[in-house]
Amino acid sequence: MSHHHDVVIIGGGNAGVSLAARLGRYGVKNIGLIEPKDHHLYQPLFSHIAGGRAQVKEAVRSQSSVTPKGVDWIKDRAMGVDTKANTVLLESGAAVGYEHLVLCPGLQYRWDDVPGLAEAVNSPYGASHYEFELASKSWSLLSSLRSGTVVFTMPSGPIKCGGASQKPMYLACDYWREQGVLDKIRVVMVQPYPTVFGIPDVDRELERKIAEYGIELRTNSELVAVDAAGRMASIRNNVTNTTEELGYDVLNAVPPQSAPDWLKATDLPAPGQGDGFVDVDTETLRHKRYPNVWSLGDAAATTNSKSGGALRKQTKVLAKNLVAARKGLAPTMKYNGYSVCPFTVSRHTVVFAEFDHNYEPKPTIPKVPTWKESRFSWWVDRSMFPQVYWHLILKGRA
Ligand SMILES: Cc1cc2nc3c(=O)[nH]c(=O)nc-3n(C[C@H](O)[C@H](O)[C@H](O)COP(=O)(O)OP(=O)(O)OC[C@H]3O[C@@H](n4cnc5c(N)ncnc54)[C@H](O)[C@@H]3O)c2cc1C
Repeated sequence: MSHHHDVVIIGGGNAGVSLAARLGRYGVKNIGLIEPKDHHLYQPLFSHIAGGRAQVKEAVRSQSSVTPKGVDWIKDRAMGVDTKANTVLLESGAAVGYEHLVLCPGLQYRWDDVPGLAEAVNSPYGASHYEFELASKSWSLLSSLRSGTVVFTMPSGPIKCGGASQKPMYLACDYWREQGVLDKIRVVMVQPYPTVFGIPDVDRELERKIAEYGIELRTNSELVAVDAAGRMASIRNNVTNTTEELGYDVLNAVPPQSAPDWLKATDLPAPGQGDGFVDVDTETLRHKRYPNVWSLGDAAATTNSKSGGALRKQTKVLAKNLVAARKGLAPTMKYNGYSVCPFTVSRHTVVFAEFDHNYEPKPTIPKVPTWKESRFSWWVDRSMFPQVYWHLILKGRA
């Protein structure tokens, strides 16, 4: 055994770092954080980078600078969990023992699920703002276009911040309008659900912007193949079961996503479920079969829309419940399914969707219509949230 900790956290992203910091504040001293990467990313800014409204450097910090003081950063990759021996197995061959284990390794991108997609986003005509390295390429392709067809796509299945698929599209449309070329550009948005988002108030506001920019919205549809050399996207309508071939000048695609493969091979997902998400109680975030195992964030089998906003609530619930469990007490804090998606509908305005796991509205400030397009919401999303993230959330204070 190379390490042993009271609490071991797998994944030093949004969930892992903010949880480690919060547990530290609640008096947990011996924490190990397993994270293989050198850099920590604030992913919500990727959409702004792809829309030409943020710089790459604003979304990245070194992992060492965000790891809370006193936390043992184990720079390695988890490959498996032995729940009988209370041990995490690492890529290096080492093992880490735990009293309590928290899993938050995020989602895995499945580029190969769509034939030709990986080649297309790495070609001179494709990009994806879901990949940090490709987000600025999105903006360079979108901003240099003066005519032609642009296709934006969202996959079916669980993804990070569902609405983020659309954000660079509105930012680009507003830019093309400013440049006087919007009417020369055909914009197609492909998304798998029956409406543009799924909450009537938000849908109405987004549909208004879609009409304003002249965007063609393909609902119930998804990208099923790409011919990168021929610049042709195959779009299947899952209701009519028909496929349309769309030629494009720029393709901005969001990859299909899933829980990490290595997690699927453990006994932590629900038996027979096969999707790999960690089988926790959706309110207490404690594992349903292993009381010393917990999960939060994108890799947990909670029913909310996956987002950093959801984590603002989950982190506190899990930290308090874990601290109670260490004292032999029952977990009493409950996560209410809250999530949020800020749609950047222009270069200066945002539409906020705040909702629970049933897609019922859940505004932070009751009676304030945050789903209305607003400049204040832009300021909150673009200026305030990044500061709150680096200075409060990652410090376990928000
Ligand atoms: C383009 C985009 C826009 C978004 N916009 C918003 C938004 O506007 N608002 C919002 O609230 N949310 C948004 N999100 C979603 C938000 O970023 C995620 O929901 C959030 O980061 C999830 O946190 P997490 O810790 O679960 O996963 P992540 O933050 O992805 O962190 C997972 C960490 O685990 C590490 N890891 C992976 N595998 C292993 C392993 N085997 N062993 C150890 N460590 C491992 C990874 O390196 C990573 O650091 C957006 C996401 C994207 C991609």
